[in-house]
Amino acid sequence: MKRLFLSLLAGVALMVSAFGQVPAPLEMTSAPGTPNLTKELSRKIGGKAFAKKTAELPAYAREQAYLLTVTPKGYKVEANTETGYFYALQTLKQMETCGTVYDYPRFQYRGFMMDVSRHFRDKDFILKQLEALASLKINQFHMHLTDDAGWRLQIDKYPLLTRQAAWRVGETWQDWCDQGRQYSQECAPEARGGYLTKADIREILDRAAQLHINVIPEIEMPGHSREVVFAYPEVGCREGSYELCPGKEATFELLEGVLEEVIELFPSPYIHVGGDEADKSHWKECPDCQARMKAEGLANVEELQSYLIKRIERFINARGRQLLGWDEILEGGLSPNATVMSWRGTQGGLEAIQQGHDAVMTPGRYCYLDKVQDAPIYEPEGWGGFLSLDVAHSYEPMEGMPEEAQMHLLGVQGNLWAERIPTNEHYEYMMYPRIAAIAEVGWSQPSRKDNFRERVTRWNDNLIAAGYHAFDLHKEYGERPAYKNGVKHLALGKPVKYNKLWNRGYPAARETTLTDGICGGWSYGDGRWQGFLTDIDVVIDLESVQPVHYVGGTFLCEPGPGIYLPKSVEVWLSSDGENFEQVATIPNEIQEPCQSYVLFGTPINAQARYVRFVAHPTRGFHFLDEVVVN
Ligand SMILES: [Zn+2]
Repeated sequence: MKRLFLSLLAGVALMVSAFGQVPAPLEMTSAPGTPNLTKELSRKIGGKAFAKKTAELPAYAREQAYLLTVTPKGYKVEANTETGYFYALQTLKQMETCGTVYDYPRFQYRGFMMDVSRHFRDKDFILKQLEALASLKINQFHMHLTDDAGWRLQIDKYPLLTRQAAWRVGETWQDWCDQGRQYSQECAPEARGGYLTKADIREILDRAAQLHINVIPEIEMPGHSREVVFAYPEVGCREGSYELCPGKEATFELLEGVLEEVIELFPSPYIHVGGDEADKSHWKECPDCQARMKAEGLANVEELQSYLIKRIERFINARGRQLLGWDEILEGGLSPNATVMSWRGTQGGLEAIQQGHDAVMTPGRYCYLDKVQDAPIYEPEGWGGFLSLDVAHSYEPMEGMPEEAQMHLLGVQGNLWAERIPTNEHYEYMMYPRIAAIAEVGWSQPSRKDNFRERVTRWNDNLIAAGYHAFDLHKEYGERPAYKNGVKHLALGKPVKYNKLWNRGYPAARETTLTDGICGGWSYGDGRWQGFLTDIDVVIDLESVQPVHYVGGTFLCEPGPGIYLPKSVEVWLSSDGENFEQVATIPNEIQEPCQSYVLFGTPINAQARYVRFVAHPTRGFHFLDEVVVN
């Protein structure tokens, strides 16, 4: 009878959606009973049965796979490695029913990048984040350790990097920029900043290893290196240049000395060397750079950067490690064994993969967590746009990738740059819960990603209860209402003549943008906002003389990426398209630029066929999505 009862129970076990789990597991069944999550009944690591079950999987998935069974009496785990066992325990913590979970990751690499340069984050903060990342089965922690705003890693051979270049004048990154980007000295009264000692790093590495997380150090070169040139001016081209000089041997001596200690400290198979956004203009005039280009037969400064990266790659490879860099390392020729981290869209990653290299996808559109996550009018200032939880979760890394190339796609990573994030609380707020979306993109099969919002809300609530300052999903405002609903008005579908054209980087729907009834969302880059670097001057043809009662347009203001409100807006009317009469001037009444969406609109009482809408620029970009006429 008892046996029959058990088999009946087995009969009602159901394949269920990823109930209560982030990231969603591959296969999950549930069974009745109250789960006992504390008693381990058995643990088989490296057993024959599980090895057979997973024999067909790629090596990385075999290593991370597990089988977890939870009953009212306790739980059992089977795995091929300690890592698989560890992931079973992460799943166990989120189990809400009895049942079985068979699981392995979709991608081998699931990363998070922390920027500890722009604002220093200390060891305790980092250790706290590792715990949350591990619960999401994230297995790569990329530390952006060096940048203009501060060098954050103890290097014994070059002590000025931390005695001087880790300290600055200015509490926040913005203060530092506003005050002329000056450095200071350790212990000086005005000094702000800090660095991680080697002892700190060892503690981080020890805990990360227990959490089955690899820590990837990033030492930026040759751009984003102002702090290095400040501490050791002999590695710059000349006074006033802030990139490293690839012409001078002193540069390689310093970089190799630094990397020697980095490699000794970090066991990571990958060493990240940055490689992004170098301003190469000084190299064109520097005699050392020119001599190097001549001696090495380099045609341009892109090839000179490539020379530096290739030489550093040889150094890293000779010590048994792999070079990882941002997608700019493709320019001027990619180093032979390099792995590319694709951030400027996915093109760099695809290109690297087509050349037979490995790539990690981290496109800004889906993976840059420094963008605001909710209505910018209610959010602390972000950096360049809007990225909702749902959009991050919708990312499909395989899109556009030929099947034979997919083996080179290592995985995905979320990046959290910190220019606008002075405090630890704000950093956590930007990190969670969006990193959970990225973790699921990296771990879960697309078919298992449903019910994410319900699952992640529970996960996030638990995180908040555990003392993390995560964004509260219960208070989410959501997308801009006009974006969802659009707008109907008198000029809908009417032709627009541009006296000045839009900026070609932000055409939106070109000539139809301003009268198509489609409104922009919280992101200037969503293809619905039209961008202008000049004044805006357009004429809408209503196609017949009509009463006009109102004209207005909404402008976006986002100082981070340099988007501002116009000084003023003018409305002109005409019956014949030749003789215009100005009927209104609308001044900008918001003095301090802040993240906002400001309507420049005015009541009018006139008859007209042509409506001329003019906006006078202040600085930077102006973005407009619709000119509403009623
Ligand atoms: Zn130079």
